[in-house]
Amino acid sequence: MIQQLDLPKQFIDEIRDILGDNEANQLIESIQKEPSVSIRLNPHKGMNAMVWCALPFSEVYNEPYERVPWNSTFGIYLPKRPDSFTLDPLFHGAAYYVQEASSMALGVFKNHLGNRPIRALDLCAAPGGKATLLQDILPKGSMLVANEVISNRAAILSENMKKWGYPNTIVTSADPKDLSEIGPWFDLILVDAPCSGEGMFRKDPEAIAEWSVRNVERCVERQREIIDNAWKMLKPGGMIIYSTCTYNKYENEDQVNYMLQQLNAEKVDLDTTGWPDELLKAVEPIKGAKTETFAMRFMPHRTKGEGLFMAAVKKPGELTTEEEQEKKKGSKIQQEEIPLYVKNWLKHPDNFIFSTMPDGIIHAIPKVITTTLEKLQKMHVRLLQAGIDFAEVKGKNYAPAATLAHSIELDEDSFDRVDICRTEAQHYLKREAITLANDANVGYIVITYAFVPLGFMKNIGNRANNLYPHEWKIRMELKE
Ligand code: SAM
Repeated sequence: MIQQLDLPKQFIDEIRDILGDNEANQLIESIQKEPSVSIRLNPHKGMNAMVWCALPFSEVYNEPYERVPWNSTFGIYLPKRPDSFTLDPLFHGAAYYVQEASSMALGVFKNHLGNRPIRALDLCAAPGGKATLLQDILPKGSMLVANEVISNRAAILSENMKKWGYPNTIVTSADPKDLSEIGPWFDLILVDAPCSGEGMFRKDPEAIAEWSVRNVERCVERQREIIDNAWKMLKPGGMIIYSTCTYNKYENEDQVNYMLQQLNAEKVDLDTTGWPDELLKAVEPIKGAKTETFAMRFMPHRTKGEGLFMAAVKKPGELTTEEEQEKKKGSKIQQEEIPLYVKNWLKHPDNFIFSTMPDGIIHAIPKVITTTLEKLQKMHVRLLQAGIDFAEVKGKNYAPAATLAHSIELDEDSFDRVDICRTEAQHYLKREAITLANDANVGYIVITYAFVPLGFMKNIGNRANNLYPHEWKIRMELKE
């Protein structure tokens, strides 16, 4: 379908400058077309046959889903946008993340991360599309700090990270300047910078209304500050992946050249082995770079997805990993004695320490995140997630924390499970009462839809209490 979008003249001039008239016309034409819709499946939750049969459009879509070429295992295009993702229980169970296709290209950096555990930071992480993807590709035993400066966006980030399910996660809400007091700490930093959003024009026409030359300049200044702070937190030998969803060179090439020239960053040669042709189309040299350096530049007339720029550079030096030492050192975090039967709610309880955090909940904290967590606590950084929200003490008993159901560390045999239909699941997610079968056991029960956990209920015999978190409940009317 063709839209009628009125693009700013200075933007068009800039595009002609970058691409030449011929290709600029193709881009401008493609901006007038409908954006594609894609989802990325959760490797731990979205790969069973029940999920595939319950995905949006599976009931009417007789052909195999079209795959995103550069993430063909987990990335699929939907034939069109559903009326609402909000009413799909699989969306709430994090069986998939709604992510535009170009952003999934972050996955190709998996080959650059080696196979030793690393500390990673996603500095501008909300709502969490790239942070959840980072979790999927980090080497085993790694940890991720996902940070978002804007408080209400950080809450959404935290929900998405908890639901995606990886335990080795810390979610913070801090200004990059304050966070940078941690010093050179991370092996990998993703800077998915706030930008003028030219690549989102057709998806979000409001981005057109907000666009101006002055706004591009403001974005450049802000990005420069974020880059400087990210650089302070990067260990020698560590890598920064820089990305924006805009086209102009000031927010893209100029920023990478700043890192190469002013910060003495080294280029990272993209390992393009096995890349599909569609992805190779996006690779181009960075203009103005002293040594030949490549970036990925997605544009809707070249590849099926929205506009995105992505490049990586390294800090000079040899990377050293301290994770093994961290495990041996032990932790100063105040620990709780937990009965074995409760610890065994987790698949690998020995990988965790247990501590009551200021939210009053006992957290299961993976040993690999304890040193980073202690540092962040000392710096008084605002924490929204630290490992797994694990349990609460109720009188003499322990109750599972409401969001434990989403963790991929939850031992599948520790609680009974009841699989419910789509309509019941929608009512459950609205936090309404639902009725369990008469023969359901008394106690805590994991509610699933297409075998994907949605949350807990407590069956007390004559009725069952819905324990889905208030702050996550669906507020929309059910219309089916
Ligand atoms: N990485 C996210 C994802 O894939 O879902 C998208 C990030 S978005 C492009 C940029 C983020 O930077 C926004 O969430 C925005 O709130 C945040 N931001 C805005 N100003 C910032 C600043 N001064 N420092 C750091 N982050 C900022």
